[in-house]
Amino acid sequence: MRIDLHTHSDRSDGTTTPTELVNHAGKRGIDVLAITDHDTTEGWAEAAEAAEREGLTLVRGIEVSCKLEGSAVHLLAYLPDPTYEPLAAELGRILEGRNARLPATLAKLRHLGIEIEEDDVRRVAGDAAAMGRPHVADALVEKGVVQDRSEAFDTYLGSRGPAYVKRYAAPLEEMVRMVAAAGGVSVVAHPWGRRYTHQALDEARFAALQDEGLAGIEVDHQDHDERERETLRAIARNLDLVVTGSSDYHGDGKVDHDLGCNTTDPEDFARLVDLARASAAASGRTTPTVLVP
Ligand SMILES: [Zn+2]
Ligand SMILES: [Zn+2]
Repeated sequence: MRIDLHTHSDRSDGTTTPTELVNHAGKRGIDVLAITDHDTTEGWAEAAEAAEREGLTLVRGIEVSCKLEGSAVHLLAYLPDPTYEPLAAELGRILEGRNARLPATLAKLRHLGIEIEEDDVRRVAGDAAAMGRPHVADALVEKGVVQDRSEAFDTYLGSRGPAYVKRYAAPLEEMVRMVAAAGGVSVVAHPWGRRYTHQALDEARFAALQDEGLAGIEVDHQDHDERERETLRAIARNLDLVVTGSSDYHGDGKVDHDLGCNTTDPEDFARLVDLARASAAASGRTTPTVLVP
């Protein structure tokens, strides 16, 4: 059984529609797929319809933009009730922050002599719920300023780049609690990945997050090398946290992140689903179920 628990569609910064995402997953032999667009549930309904047609198990999720001690951390929230008001409000705040960031980023680029208009970004962003840095990167590629998204981030848009603008992200511990209150479960995405915080997320911190309801750690991710994976796996084992592995697929938006390039062990997946069921029961919320064909 092949299980991929972290993928993006064009409702955030992926390049395929939710339907195409599910169809690709089916062709690549994925049996269980999670759609986890950044800070939005907009792709859920379309993905669910496609999954039913494709005969594929779908897990509805969100990759929430969080921060810990000033550094960015991504939190995968699986199966929360999307109508839980505090969660919906927080996601709205994050999306708003991302849209407000765009004019500021373009002003910084203009200062560097690079003229890009909001319309240029809107055109490449298509159906995305919010226009983010990857879309600015795509516009830079289209203008021939850079070769690809990575060069755009390395040269301009990354946190040390000259066109970087800070934006709102949810406090990590609070979001872990909120996902639990919404009846879902959370997993820290690529905790030691490039561009993300390293030092702050150690075993003691994971233990503290677990006390707030954290279910697992995304260990097998392309941004982790073998040593990092082994160390994270040991931390997860010590704390009895679920270990996940996933592609973080973005369509053509990210190279070396093909569907199924990392997968989650069926036993870990079963534990995650059990924890989600317990969280849903404890919260009293009506949560999306894992869609099984
Ligand atoms: Zn991420
Ligand atoms: Zn992602």
